[in-house]
Amino acid sequence: MERKQFKTEVSDLLHLIIHSLYSHKEIFLRELVSNASDALDKLRYRSLTENFPTPELRIDLSFTEGDKRTLTISDNGIGMTHDELSENLGTIAHSGTKRFLQNLTDDQKTNSNLIGQFGVGFYSAFMVADKVEVTSKGWGEEKAYRWSSDGKEKYTIEEAEREENGTTIVIYLNDEGKEYANRWQIENLIKQYSDHIAYPIYLAYDQNTYDDKYNVTGTEHKVEQINSASALWRRSKSELKEEDYNDFYKNTCYDSENPLFYIHTKAEGATEYTTLFFIPAKAPFDMYHADYKSGVKLYVRRVYITDDDKELLPTYLRFVRGIIDSEDLPLNVSREILQQNKVMTAIRTASVKKLLSEFKKISEQNPELYTKFIEQYNRPLKEGLYQDYANRDDLLELVRFKSTAVDGYTSLAQYKERMKSDQKSIYYITGGKEESLKYSPLLASYKEKGYEVLLMTDDIDELVIGSMGKYKDIELKAVNKTDALDDFAGDKKVAKEDEKVAEKIKKALGERVKDVKVSTRLSGVSAVVVADSNDPTVQMQQLLKAMGQGDMPESAPVLEINAEDPFVKKIADSEDESFISDACSVLLDQALLSEGVMPKNPAEFTAKLHSLLI
Ligand code: ADP
Repeated sequence: MERKQFKTEVSDLLHLIIHSLYSHKEIFLRELVSNASDALDKLRYRSLTENFPTPELRIDLSFTEGDKRTLTISDNGIGMTHDELSENLGTIAHSGTKRFLQNLTDDQKTNSNLIGQFGVGFYSAFMVADKVEVTSKGWGEEKAYRWSSDGKEKYTIEEAEREENGTTIVIYLNDEGKEYANRWQIENLIKQYSDHIAYPIYLAYDQNTYDDKYNVTGTEHKVEQINSASALWRRSKSELKEEDYNDFYKNTCYDSENPLFYIHTKAEGATEYTTLFFIPAKAPFDMYHADYKSGVKLYVRRVYITDDDKELLPTYLRFVRGIIDSEDLPLNVSREILQQNKVMTAIRTASVKKLLSEFKKISEQNPELYTKFIEQYNRPLKEGLYQDYANRDDLLELVRFKSTAVDGYTSLAQYKERMKSDQKSIYYITGGKEESLKYSPLLASYKEKGYEVLLMTDDIDELVIGSMGKYKDIELKAVNKTDALDDFAGDKKVAKEDEKVAEKIKKALGERVKDVKVSTRLSGVSAVVVADSNDPTVQMQQLLKAMGQGDMPESAPVLEINAEDPFVKKIADSEDESFISDACSVLLDQALLSEGVMPKNPAEFTAKLHSLLI
């Protein structure tokens, strides 16, 4: 017999599982049944691609009552060799598991929903076990082996007896787990968590027999199938209730909440396939991690192929969970082939269209639900605007914005409805929190005219809008960029003297500004900074810097001055070089400051301000 030590990450995982998942300890059965089902999938896949027959693929459960309670889960799947037993159950092969553990904060460790989402696997058995024995024989192998451990630090592996390929797991139940050596408990858990498993799950049990007078006459051994074993997505919509979908979702996607909604589609015709998509109520925790997990599983004619292909849907739809089951793909389709495969491309294109049209339908028919959807997924949809050119028009109808005209969210279509008759463009302001954008001095003149301004608060908004250009032939213009100025050009004539002040200030500020323009729209402030039409705004530059793109050349802002403001008039009237220099510098810095940008040298700024005040 070999005695081995668990790799440290396994000990960590065991500890974590036992302490944080305790209130959900029953999930161990779901995990083991799901492993058995995967092992059957693997054998089924090989039998189909390599053309050999298999007996009925199945999962068998049994238990013993009394003093030594056990629960046994057995499958006749692909099995494990000696080395696989040690590798799969003694280390965490899954490199994702390790990274996941490292990234988990203490707060998250106590959030069992999060861990439930991830699927903890085999080790969860130790929540209910004093000891676990795994006897396995790999497909085509001569010998079987038994892995055994109390889940503390060590495990052993020894040769064992097993007729056919597959795996048998015996759980020696501890005090916490003894309730699971019970027919009704097992049936309920299987119904709740594993009903959809595509293979039959049988439960063996002894049942008392009775005579006419209800006296026990003996016991009868029974074996009964306890799941419905049909791939839910293959059943027709009319047969299924909302509850069936919700249960299926919660069990397969490891979420404790019902999905916001689901979309079940059967396509017939040139390409035949079934898709069942779910939109989680809360955005997946890894939605913004570079190594997020794909949420869509690919099946071919009900045979599971992969859950690890991020190309099944475009990145911006990475929050979608569910299944794609194709009739036409070959079973042995490899990832490289998948990506260029015509069938797969057709399914993907149609799935995106279907998802977007369903989102649209919900936005029209159920605004309340749509708001919940937008609260979670507005940002990824915006990514779609620059990733998915083909569907841009549809995405433009789906994204939502905060605005000066309404509480909550607005669509571009609704904005258009509200536009004033003399309004030329759709206006927006980027770069900051909703509260600070609302009070930007730039908005005053828009308010005066009754023009609505969209408040773009997402960090990617400026990039996204830049790629949008127009909405239904109406230009989108940033109020903090120079092109929005043109819309106001007819309002006031700029006097010759005012042009001269602008020149004077520009000269004083030198390279710190790209230009100084006399405003036709400002009131109540002396000046604001805007970006030249093709330059990023000052906030955008800060964001890029924060993202590590600090080596981008800095573009100086355009200073827009209010020639009627007394401070600007004072500069106009002054001939004192040192006053002009200090005043212009303060004029620029305070304009930057009200955009949330710190002056380059705050001490110098306050000194200059002070000298101007006394
Ligand atoms: P995961 O299922 O997430 O990979 P587990 O800890 O549950 O993690 O299992 C680790 C590995 O052990 C599996 O990936 C699989 O290769 C192997 N395994 C577990 N149970 C079985 C089984 N019943 N039959 C064959 N292999 C199994």
